[in-house]
Amino acid sequence: MIWDRAMETMDRQRLRRVQEMRLRWTLNWARERVPFYQERIDRIISSDDRDPIAYLKDIPFTTKKDLRAQYPTGFFAVPRHELRRIHASSGTGGKPTMVGYTARDLAMWAEVVARSLAAAGARPGDMLHNAYGYGLFTGGLGLHAGAERMGLTVIPASGGGTERQVELLCDLRPEGLACTPSYALNLAETGLRLGGDPKTWGLKFAILGAEPWTEAMRQRIENALNVSAVDIYGLSEITGPGVAIECDQAKDGLHVFEDFFYMEIVDPKTGDAVSPGTLGELVLTTLAKEAMPMVRYRTGDLVSLLDDPCACGRTHRKISRVVGRTDDMLVVRGVNVFPSEIERVMLNLSTELEPNYQLAWEDGPMPRLVLEVESQTSNGLDPAWIARRLKEALRVSLEVRLLPPGTLVRAPGKAIRVVDRRSTERK
Ligand SMILES: [Zn+2]
Repeated sequence: MIWDRAMETMDRQRLRRVQEMRLRWTLNWARERVPFYQERIDRIISSDDRDPIAYLKDIPFTTKKDLRAQYPTGFFAVPRHELRRIHASSGTGGKPTMVGYTARDLAMWAEVVARSLAAAGARPGDMLHNAYGYGLFTGGLGLHAGAERMGLTVIPASGGGTERQVELLCDLRPEGLACTPSYALNLAETGLRLGGDPKTWGLKFAILGAEPWTEAMRQRIENALNVSAVDIYGLSEITGPGVAIECDQAKDGLHVFEDFFYMEIVDPKTGDAVSPGTLGELVLTTLAKEAMPMVRYRTGDLVSLLDDPCACGRTHRKISRVVGRTDDMLVVRGVNVFPSEIERVMLNLSTELEPNYQLAWEDGPMPRLVLEVESQTSNGLDPAWIARRLKEALRVSLEVRLLPPGTLVRAPGKAIRVVDRRSTERK
């Protein structure tokens, strides 16, 4: 089902005109109302006649550092009485980033989440178990509002209390599940441990995101829960979940809702646009955000543009799944690798390896990265063989440690994939 057929299947020339008009509005709005943008945009815009898409690339990027420098509300473009909600991003490595929404912003956000739910396979009248965290994090309330807009019944389960959540899933039999991919597995695992069979819960669709995951992980989740799972992408700085979504027809890349978000994919070092198919950093400009317009925001997420028409009929272009964040990249003895690449190779090696894993930096004469992964059987699999295969595929030298199922701590929301156990002076 396509939620907004007119907009989501609009021909690309018309879509470009919509983008042009909305971008012109955004740039004017931002420079008039946000001091940070005033000078940077004034320097570029001389008249209103020029095509704003053509000169957007001349405006400097906006970074997370800029947002932190304007903490808490320096980027807000409306007086506080016009705001209807505040969210904040988790403050890993510094102050959190505050984001604000007007009533229109909240309506736009609910609309893109409704589109996302439809793309995932939801239908009005379905029930959605929403295990994204409610609170300042945008996942819980973001999915919630979009689901209500679509006419779903929402179970606001939020994060944690996993056994209770399994009980709810068994008793209410919702069609849909929304959470992080790692939490979907946690629910399946807990269901099995409690003596049930998660395959019989009656789930039809799962809308999973907020952490990088792989195709191999999708297969594990779809098997464990007998469900169709799609990837949802978003970030609070731009709006929250619903910036992009996979469609259940293709399950091959995420459609970016280009009438609301203008995308560029750039080389993280030079800032220049990369060609379709090349991995680069996703840069987004909001096209209809009132409370906090963002111009050329560097997301830190590495994706590539998939520039082929999609079987579902949507004309909005697709990006690949997020491979990782520029700041999540691990450097192991000079070799760059993302946790998601290790996940992809590892899960394809053996079905006995569980998608529960962690990468730990440990003390040693050289920087030492240990992959700890849960395995069904301790005989049979040789850790040294796994390490060799990872080295062949990714050139990365890791030590591998197999753990009994259930050993690693399950996070209630985003999985913690990398830990540092080195003594402080070596970090
Ligand atoms: Zn599609």
